[in-house]
Amino acid sequence: MAEKIRVATASLAGCFGCHMSFLDIDERILDLVELVEFDRTPITDIKTIGECDLGLIEGGVANAENVEVLREFRRHCKILVALGACAVNGGIPAMRNAFELKDCLEESYVGGVGIYNPGIPNDPEIPLLLNKVHPIHEVVKIDYFLPGCPPSADAIWTFLTELLAGKPIDFPYTQIHYD
Ligand code: SF4
Repeated sequence: MAEKIRVATASLAGCFGCHMSFLDIDERILDLVELVEFDRTPITDIKTIGECDLGLIEGGVANAENVEVLREFRRHCKILVALGACAVNGGIPAMRNAFELKDCLEESYVGGVGIYNPGIPNDPEIPLLLNKVHPIHEVVKIDYFLPGCPPSADAIWTFLTELLAGKPIDFPYTQIHYD
């Protein structure tokens, strides 16, 4: 039997919606697991990444841990994919880029509506926030970009099956229009 393709996935500054959309391929996941084996991913709950053929990254880069995870994925994945708007261009988390980080923290933890115990968390275990949220291609080289918030399950399916078959990826129009 041919060796299976090893796939890892991670969510950086995202909402897990892209992972949910991936799982929305529903029963097609049974066909997928004939071809691939999952490495580190929230789906398997494996915490460390091994050598992989394909890495899918959801979310942008908002803190020091995101940078570390992303670099680790780049080191271990032959092909790295930006999955969804947050990974492609920063998405919703990057809306904070219009403001100073200090102002965001004060609004969230000190002066915002409904704050009863004001104080900006600074536990050393909490990853340090970056001043701005970055799309992942600003930190490492990315091989493919799959836009959408989230990309539909069908678009993810087309992308994966054509990539795994070694074909040029050709989306039907219905999977790549956003109006
Ligand atoms: S692209 Fe949309 S669905 Fe995906 S992580 Fe970002 S906000 Fe969530």
